[in-house]
Amino acid sequence: MAGRIPQGFIDELLIRADIVEVIDARVPLTKGGKDFKARCPFHDEKTPSFTVSPDKQFYHCFGCQANGNAIGFLMEYEHMSFPEAVEELANHVGIPVPKEVVAGGRQFEDQQDLLDILQEAATHYQRQLRDHPQAQAAVDYLKGRGLSGEVAARFDFGFAPDGWDNLLRGLGTDDVRRKHLQRAGLLVAKDGGGYYDRFRNRIMFPIHDHRGRIVGFGGRVIGEGEPKYLNSPETPLFHKGREMYGLFLGRDAIRREQRVFVVEGYMDVVALAQHGVDFAVATLGTATTRDHLDRLFRFTSDVVFCFDGDPAGLQAAWRALEIALPTLDEGRQASFLFLPEGEDPDSVIRREGAEAFLARQVESLPDYFFRNLHDRADVRRLDGRARMVELASPLLSKIPEGPFRQMMRDRLAEISGLEPQKLPRLGLATTNKVSPKSANRPRAELKKPPSLVRTAVALLLRDPSLAKQVKDPEAIVRLDLPGTTLLAAMLDILKIDPELNMAALIERFRDSEHRTHLEKLAVWTHPVLEQDAAAEFQGTLGQLEKAGREQRTDRLLYKERAKGLNQAEKAELGRLLAETGRSDGVTPTS
Ligand SMILES: [Zn+2]
Repeated sequence: MAGRIPQGFIDELLIRADIVEVIDARVPLTKGGKDFKARCPFHDEKTPSFTVSPDKQFYHCFGCQANGNAIGFLMEYEHMSFPEAVEELANHVGIPVPKEVVAGGRQFEDQQDLLDILQEAATHYQRQLRDHPQAQAAVDYLKGRGLSGEVAARFDFGFAPDGWDNLLRGLGTDDVRRKHLQRAGLLVAKDGGGYYDRFRNRIMFPIHDHRGRIVGFGGRVIGEGEPKYLNSPETPLFHKGREMYGLFLGRDAIRREQRVFVVEGYMDVVALAQHGVDFAVATLGTATTRDHLDRLFRFTSDVVFCFDGDPAGLQAAWRALEIALPTLDEGRQASFLFLPEGEDPDSVIRREGAEAFLARQVESLPDYFFRNLHDRADVRRLDGRARMVELASPLLSKIPEGPFRQMMRDRLAEISGLEPQKLPRLGLATTNKVSPKSANRPRAELKKPPSLVRTAVALLLRDPSLAKQVKDPEAIVRLDLPGTTLLAAMLDILKIDPELNMAALIERFRDSEHRTHLEKLAVWTHPVLEQDAAAEFQGTLGQLEKAGREQRTDRLLYKERAKGLNQAEKAELGRLLAETGRSDGVTPTS
């Protein structure tokens, strides 16, 4: 969608709009230092941790990590689509809206049509559960599961009767509506034309997005039948990797309990709720994703994964651990609740009740991590301990730099009997956010190449005009250090549009994999960055070049020993050794 609105128009908006005005009109701000503050509109808090920076044209909440520019704020706060937010901002600034934005708005109307039809379908299915002649089987099933009318009403259970055209006849009254029903995933198009109902003979569970809008359904077959559970397909509104069943309805309970259970199915969520454990969510037929966790951690810092203790459950648990590692910092924690083989939270809580369920032993992520590695490597043997180090290192590299990572490393050192400094150097966890704590590390730490790139990116983000200092952006690309693609991309953009401010620069990455990383860097306050940014940037570029030269030298030296160099490489190595002042005991011949 972003591609349809001229980039220059968005740039201009973000340069001319003042985010302080935009937010203050909705959430009254008070001045504190050079920034503005308020109680966060996105999470419940007593003392203000929501700050708005006029310099950066960016907002950030230290409590829930919400952040973004003026467009992002309107999208989050006013629940606007991207084109709507652009239009709103254009009206605010008083510049005319190009027609492409209106075209984008049309696309939003389509989305609204789908939302409307999904809501109608939910009402339709609920009515069927009350009135349809076949509904007794569904009611019996729910009662057999011990579910009350209150829970059925809370989760808006519905019923799709057996047959191919119940919904089709009920809601698909004209061709436009039938198309909407199909786009929403509720009707399936037949090869020879026409449609049929996707959900038949099923209990229906509406799936809400984070704003409480119905975006899809899950259906549990009544009696025997395949598949037992059927979800809406991926649609413009419904993405399994993002949505979780029960999150919208459970969000207050999750905040209250400061804990969330992640379970595997919607029957688990509703069975737990039936017993008063109303802070559970389920993934929708997919493994837990990074997006899921990022969402959950906005509500609580304590995530508990519940898994069946069978081999499939254990495998899924380990995958969840791997996904969770990069998200663990600033006091966030994950743990695991393993149920007896063949059991799920639904069966356990029905048998044992809530108290016993909640009293079950939960294993912390670090304990589970090292227990699993113990099972895979025999630490009584020297080669077993080496294997453990090999298995653990790449995983520990995923943890954001900070105390948790350090402690995990120390524990690995303890178990393996290796001195901590002899453990393999951990790579930089590039995808995680940069915590204010890591920003306080001594400057010497910044000499490591990955941090250098990060510093350069952060400096450039704060003050995009620094890009003018870069004489040869190509050289940055050739560096081949982690993170240089992003740095090079930023330099490319600024070469063409040197007047962009931070908010506009970040906007260019809205649909990019780098976006989250940039947003974190945007709110990273490094003492050095506050001072002489221009000199620091120049120095960082110099060090980057040096790091790149050293890396190239190492590679050539290695290749020379391994299989020899060609003439051009020999010449290059000779030049590099002279420049870097190294000898390494090798005399390259020319
Ligand atoms: Zn917040």
